[in-house]
Amino acid sequence: MTTYYFDHNASTFPYEEVIAAMNEWSLPNKWANPSAKHHAGKLAAKAVQEARVQIATLIEANSEEEIFFCSGATEAINLGLQGMAQLLAESNTPTRIAGFADEHPAVGSCLSAMQKRYHQHPDIEIFPSIESSFTGKFSNENPRLLLLVRMLAQNETGQVYDLPQIRSQFLREEDWLFSDLSQAVGKIPVSVQQLNIQMGAFSGHKLGGPAGIGVLYMSRKKPRLSINPLTFGGGQEQGLRPGSLNLPGIVGLGVAAQLVKSNLDTHIKQLESIRRAFETKLRILVPEVQFLAEQHQRLPNTSMVILPAEYADTMKHRLPGLCVTQGSACASASGKSSHVLAALGLKKEQIARTYRFSFGRNNSIEEVTSCLEVAFRGISH
Ligand code: PLP
Repeated sequence: MTTYYFDHNASTFPYEEVIAAMNEWSLPNKWANPSAKHHAGKLAAKAVQEARVQIATLIEANSEEEIFFCSGATEAINLGLQGMAQLLAESNTPTRIAGFADEHPAVGSCLSAMQKRYHQHPDIEIFPSIESSFTGKFSNENPRLLLLVRMLAQNETGQVYDLPQIRSQFLREEDWLFSDLSQAVGKIPVSVQQLNIQMGAFSGHKLGGPAGIGVLYMSRKKPRLSINPLTFGGGQEQGLRPGSLNLPGIVGLGVAAQLVKSNLDTHIKQLESIRRAFETKLRILVPEVQFLAEQHQRLPNTSMVILPAEYADTMKHRLPGLCVTQGSACASASGKSSHVLAALGLKKEQIARTYRFSFGRNNSIEEVTSCLEVAFRGISH
């Protein structure tokens, strides 16, 4: 069975240099707790600091102190959103927190849980799923502070949202924008300062870094943002995410960040050429195919397609080794149909024949075109 791995939005494999760095920092001559005060601990702390700088540089944060290590984007999102709501609730600051309907479940489920938790709180209002087409105002009730949550790139369709435009449409100067950057970092340039986002989150395994490590970015510019910690312990990560640090994961993520930074232009061109070849060939072989979000700016590697039913069936039958996702990996894991595609107005029957192809570093034009040949050559109906 030939394996075709076109599921890099679900997870993409680490760079060789990342694996080498993780190995290096897993061996006894380097291994130590970065919080320890002895010589080995100090060396480990220096490596963590270097990684923090590499990551801050990649996303153009103002300082490495704005980088908080977590286990992944899901944890970072929960820490940022719940931590902020807790602090604002305790200080009785009238606040409105809103997210869009097509956000990843890491945001959507978190906001829904928070809505239940705070529904009797006089000062905290939560709107977990605003329609993408919403054009009204959230922030017209002074002095309510608004925290708007908007992802930079949609994990299923690959659509890249115009955050500066969203900020100018919905937010006042003093309001905060939280962005889930999980699909964007590593695939498009991300500058948190240019985008004017105050909090963000992403995972190592989506950008060629390790799994099990992720980042909460939180601006520390004035007026200084703060959050409550959700867990309590030894005071690591400025007391906001305590617990011994994942040394190999952090060093590996730092190396990935540096590689992404220096290779991004070439990487984007490679991904775009693979996707272009894929979509051109697919249109020839399956003239009725539809590409979602194709009229919008998209991630360079993502193509979400609706296939006619007989083509979808043949593809599945002919290519048992094809790794693509129907909806998002998380939606597939929970057995639920994609809420993103439903929010786009697709019917269940269409969702059932919608596939996300997401390409990565090890894919090639030859691989995607030969895969399509095997899947669809000679089908007529
Ligand atoms: N946000 C988006 C847009 C994602 O695509 C994902 C993963 O699929 C996540 C958040 C959650 O990332 P993780 O599972 O690494 O915590």
